[in-house]
Amino acid sequence: MNEELARLYARIDTYIEEMAAFQTELTAVPALGPESGGQGEGEKVRVIERWLERLRPDEVFQVDAPDPRVASGVRPNLMARLHGRNQGRVWVLSHVDVVPPGEPGLWVTDPWVLKREGDFVYGRGVEDNQHGIVASFFAAQAFRDEGLVPGREVALAFVADEETGSRLGLGYLLNTRPDLFSPDDLIIVPDAGKPDGTLIEVAEKSLLWLRFTVTGKQCHASTPDQGRNTLRAAARMITALDDDFHGFFTAADPLYTLPASTFEPTRKEANVPNVNTIPGEDVFYFDTRVLPAYSLADVKDRAQRVAQGVAEASGVTVRVESVNEVQAPKPTPTDAPVVQALFRAIAAVTGRTAKPQGIGGGTVAALFREKGLPAAVWSTIDHYAHAPNERDRLSNLVTDAKILAHVYWGA
Ligand SMILES: [Zn+2]
Repeated sequence: MNEELARLYARIDTYIEEMAAFQTELTAVPALGPESGGQGEGEKVRVIERWLERLRPDEVFQVDAPDPRVASGVRPNLMARLHGRNQGRVWVLSHVDVVPPGEPGLWVTDPWVLKREGDFVYGRGVEDNQHGIVASFFAAQAFRDEGLVPGREVALAFVADEETGSRLGLGYLLNTRPDLFSPDDLIIVPDAGKPDGTLIEVAEKSLLWLRFTVTGKQCHASTPDQGRNTLRAAARMITALDDDFHGFFTAADPLYTLPASTFEPTRKEANVPNVNTIPGEDVFYFDTRVLPAYSLADVKDRAQRVAQGVAEASGVTVRVESVNEVQAPKPTPTDAPVVQALFRAIAAVTGRTAKPQGIGGGTVAALFREKGLPAAVWSTIDHYAHAPNERDRLSNLVTDAKILAHVYWGA
């Protein structure tokens, strides 16, 4: 192994106590957005700034997005840069905000007081997304402590508002400071992954949520001839839609962990409260996730046509509405430099073979891809994001810091 990389890895092994300390300080500051009754990320960003004084980056700056809903009036996006020896830049973008703890009774410990137990640390935010903050920070710190200069410029971004849409976080940065990012940059978002760290997420499916409101005529269940039963019509509609979607949108792409488009009937609103009344209105929903090759307009067209056909045959009417839609941007190519750099780094540090893949869910990387910036989502995590008793492993922080150091070093 290269002697400088070996020094960096050995140095990172010594950071475990400091990693736990950084996690403890971050967990103690609930960075909730105003949607969750919080004051945003200001106080937590000051914790990161204090740690940056230890790192001594070549440049630290902040881009504030105005937000009158919080006392400070702004949502902070903090950036730090370390110069590199050569051309090229690597961005690691983590988010500072967290989601609320949820049902308090499900937590064994106080979500805002870090608990350490062997390799594990517990607390709201320790995985999502403090894992990214801490790993990207200590990967850079190793260069400072070893007196080495990274091969690439290292740019760390600690952004706001990821959990509630990113409009005041990465969205604001991309709109107001497009000069910060170049398509030649390696852009890493350590905010999803697998427990063995081999998933490099490069693509997402398009998302469409559809609401169907079926209207008929309510009446007594003993006299169905006097009414028009919307539950029966809705049931037929659901099976017809299911058959039609799966029969038409048949393309499969092995890039995705689930290779086909998915169409799932999910929510059904309550109708009548009693058994002996025929319902006159029913509302149900589909969650659909389609491969980016398909247009969401086509999905909506077919939904409208099929639902309408069943409604006419059943003597009811139907209204079809889209309640949420996100057309997926073009995937990051699997041979993009950021994917290849991560692939090499993961192999070098863990000996594992990573796989670039697409997922059904959405991440903030989509905002980069929309602007033609090839971003990759990767980290080594156990999937405790948003869950009660959220946890992270200190050993995974060490591993990911080494993998990021490998990328910073420019191997
Ligand atoms: Zn996250």
